Amino acid sequence: MPFADLGLSPELVQAVKAKGYDTPTPIQAQAIPSVLMMRDLIAIAQTGTGKTASFVLPMIDILAHGRRRAMMPRSLILEPTRELAAQVAENFEAYGKNHDLKMALLIGGVQMGDQVKALNEGVDVLIATPGRLMDLFERGKILLTGCDLLVIDEADRMLDMGFIPDIETICSKLPTTRQTLLFSATMPPPIKKLADKFLSNPKSIEVARPASANVNIAQHKVLVPSARNKRDVLRTLLRSDNVSTAMIFANRKTTVRELNKSLQSHGFSSGEIHGDMDQSSRIATLDQFKDGKINILCCSDVAARGLDVKGVSHVFNFDTPWHPDDYVHRIGRTGRAGATGRAFTLVAPEDLEAIDNVEKLTGMKIPVYEVETGKTSDKPERAPRERKAREERAPREDKPRREARAPREEAPAREEAPRAARAEKPRREERPRREEREPAGEPGEWNGPIPGFLGISAL
Ligand code: AMP
Repeated sequence: MPFADLGLSPELVQAVKAKGYDTPTPIQAQAIPSVLMMRDLIAIAQTGTGKTASFVLPMIDILAHGRRRAMMPRSLILEPTRELAAQVAENFEAYGKNHDLKMALLIGGVQMGDQVKALNEGVDVLIATPGRLMDLFERGKILLTGCDLLVIDEADRMLDMGFIPDIETICSKLPTTRQTLLFSATMPPPIKKLADKFLSNPKSIEVARPASANVNIAQHKVLVPSARNKRDVLRTLLRSDNVSTAMIFANRKTTVRELNKSLQSHGFSSGEIHGDMDQSSRIATLDQFKDGKINILCCSDVAARGLDVKGVSHVFNFDTPWHPDDYVHRIGRTGRAGATGRAFTLVAPEDLEAIDNVEKLTGMKIPVYEVETGKTSDKPERAPRERKAREERAPREDKPRREARAPREEAPAREEAPRAARAEKPRREERPRREEREPAGEPGEWNGPIPGFLGISAL
């Protein structure tokens, strides 16, 4: 089915064509007609499925009619991280180029003054992270009573980051007659509860997980005798597997940093992105990667989650992720939107339990890749070396269990502390405004120039 048959305006279909897309992805084909008919929507879909355009496109047509008013955004998109918010903003810029719509981005790490100014001028689309939005709302700088369309994106990620109470508060400030679209990769009970409470008669859509269904990703695991061998094996793979662009994931920020240094010292053109970096450095590195100035990006899960970096030929899991869901997200960076990609997971003895969990989640055994021969064994059973390592490893009780383990070093890259943690702050009247306290922004905040897509722009 072509885009023109989904009920979108000719201007919009033209903007989609200009981006090079002819055929809607399954989620777009299912979601767009319903959203245009003003129905609520629950979509179980991950990044990589084309889900962003499935709400951005119909929103542009819906918002094409109507007037902007000061301080009262007409629609609101909630995103868990700054990077995702910026990415949605980029989508609005590209698809909305033939429409006169105004957009504002409300994210941490950017000075509030400009954001407030944009709100005062009136915006059609407000893209926000919950923390910053609540902050402005509490300061009386924004009214949500004119907001007839709400998108909650990456709801399960919001749950991980403790944002659900904020979202509930935000939902209760919007008109009850609004249209609500909820996107989530999974549907854990708290998200189901949120949907039951705040959506009315929603259409439900579920699209296949890219990881389990995406035949465009060739997945391999490489068994290494010890974690010490990983760098060596990785370099061999980087040199031998026709790598044009690669994202390399590690479980700890320190590993990301050390790995990047080591790769650079071996002559690779690499960069790093992780939660310890300030926003401007993260964006600068990402831009270098997108522009091809570096071709290898070492990353942590939180910093890289959902980032749409096109044409990544390879994903390497330097460590097997502790959360099996993260595996799905990581390898989803390659093999995107029709392109083919390769994913390698380095498995040392301490990764065995994690890789087991990944295989349980995806429902498939990942074939073992022999670096020396470049061959893959499709043996359904565990390889002997792996079994031996498993037998030798410490008893199960000694291993950190998922529930009991220390919080990931890579704590979610929160925009601001979630509401539960912020509850202890004095009320608005008692505390000085942020601009007054720290005119230059919070320590570690980004005070430099705002790149085009992070700023405020007329579409
Ligand atoms: P998303 O799931 O929104 O992160 O999108 C994943 C990637 O698919 C992005 O690079 C989009 O630009 C791209 N994309 C979106 N819609 C289409 C389409 N209809 N055909 C091909 N690629 C698309």
